[in-house]
Amino acid sequence: MRIGILGGTFNPIHIGHLVLAEEAKESLKLDRVIFIPAFMPPHKNSSSIINPDDRLQMVCLAVQGNDAFEVSDIEIRKQRMSYSVYTLRDLHKQYGKGTGFFLITGSDSLGELTSWKNIQEVFRMSQFVVASRPGFPVKDVPSQIKVVLITPLEISSTQIRRKIREGHSIRYLVPDPVRGYILEKGLYRDKNPGK
Ligand code: ATP
Ligand code: MG
Repeated sequence: MRIGILGGTFNPIHIGHLVLAEEAKESLKLDRVIFIPAFMPPHKNSSSIINPDDRLQMVCLAVQGNDAFEVSDIEIRKQRMSYSVYTLRDLHKQYGKGTGFFLITGSDSLGELTSWKNIQEVFRMSQFVVASRPGFPVKDVPSQIKVVLITPLEISSTQIRRKIREGHSIRYLVPDPVRGYILEKGLYRDKNPGK
């Protein structure tokens, strides 16, 4: 079995993530893609990150209706910051031999590779995949990494949080059930978060 892993903060999940998962799945002939929200993202300032259960819930709402998409709380239930290398070790134990893992990232991750924990072990345990993301040119790619070109969508969670804060519509940038959840719970309206 070929399984894609899409980790992220998903603060909140948006259609850029969903198109990334769908097109990576098609291009790499994956059987499924598992979305894994991080408890805390290792690479960024955490002040604008809302609680993990809301982020997890929104990812579940977003993948509803796609049988090939799954959500795992493997990182969130640890209740502490984690790294992909630990998650991959756990998944290898869980799935055993015969399963190949594809770690899917956007091209912004290329600039951060040196800060990944045990990156060589990550490369051994999975096929590292970088998908094109507007604003982050795919260049100087290490030979272990597979590049996938996807539909360019210049959307980020940062931009969505800003829109909410400024009272703008996020309709069609996130799946409707996610928009409903955000509105109902009044998420991201704080005028004074990190960014
Ligand atoms: P933030 O602005 O808060 O960093 P984000 O939009 O970058 O949010 P993340 O949760 O950080 O979302 O991203 C999870 C993964 O999805 C990362 O590997 C990221 O590169 C990738 N990704 C996010 N948005 C896109 C996009 N529009 N196109 C391609 N890849 C994307
Ligand atoms: Mg990001």
